[in-house]
Amino acid sequence: MTQTATTAATAAEAKMDSKPMGYVNGQMLPKSQAGINVFDHGLLYGDGVFEGIRIYRGRIFKLEQHLDRLYECAGRIRLDLAKHVSRDEMTQIMRRCIEANELTEGYIRLVVTRGVGTLGLNPFLCPEPGVVCIADQIQLYTDEMDEQGMRVGGADRPRIPVECLDPRIKSLNYLNNILAKVEAIDAGCLECIMLNTDGRVAEGSGDNIFAVKDGELHTPPVTEGLLEGITRRFVIDTLAPMAGIPVNERNLELQEVMDADELFMTGSAAEMIAVTSSGKTEQDAHVIGSGAEGPITKALRAKFRQIVTSDNVPED
Ligand code: PMP
Repeated sequence: MTQTATTAATAAEAKMDSKPMGYVNGQMLPKSQAGINVFDHGLLYGDGVFEGIRIYRGRIFKLEQHLDRLYECAGRIRLDLAKHVSRDEMTQIMRRCIEANELTEGYIRLVVTRGVGTLGLNPFLCPEPGVVCIADQIQLYTDEMDEQGMRVGGADRPRIPVECLDPRIKSLNYLNNILAKVEAIDAGCLECIMLNTDGRVAEGSGDNIFAVKDGELHTPPVTEGLLEGITRRFVIDTLAPMAGIPVNERNLELQEVMDADELFMTGSAAEMIAVTSSGKTEQDAHVIGSGAEGPITKALRAKFRQIVTSDNVPED
């Protein structure tokens, strides 16, 4: 390599290393330096909570709802977050991250760890929670999958029961989801349908689930053991009412989901995506509805796009 080429390569590497900039406990750092203390209980025990949030047109989609969930989840793991970081400060951290990374479209990962403590479990020996914020691009599924829908695998592993660790707590302990995701990947797909320990439908490994039957939406209530997704709420409170589609939050058997006219999943990263078949292999997958994205999913997804590309991306 010539000297000029080496310099150019080094500059490119440096750039790769510096973006995205990440906020770590008060400092905005380049990617290569954005690390956390090895005694942080977030790392040692997955002791903490987090949010995944979309940025549309430079605005933080459903900011207030994400903050509500973050502070509530922190409270449920006995971490008094407001005592250390106010909601306004948290918002400023996110906006600084968006600015530092020059993003108008993207995704924020906001992480609150228990903080630095001892090697023992006791969380109350961690005096100060850690706050990490990353803002970057994200694309979970291909553009074709957006149009054609996707196959999901059925996970054999159930979702953690509410009485053990309520999946409503968006904790840093995501191994239940990751191992279900591995089952999906082993089946050649990217998502799966997770059941609760009573054998009814809960959610995907990282997304909520909706079935469409006879023109109505059906989705399990949060008491079935699932994360109360912000996108799920947006579908229930905004998109479905706008389209005049009734929503039923009720327990769902797997068979009902398989017999649905349409099926789709929702999540901040995934947004809305049709599920068009389910099975461990492509050959013997069960086809859902027509096998393509159905008209209701398409209409709701179009409404979703319309709102997030408008001048009024909701931050409520
Ligand atoms: N369920 C799980 C397990 C999740 O991790 C997520 C977030 N990726 C969702 C559902 C969707 O939640 P939200 O719409 O708030 O992103």
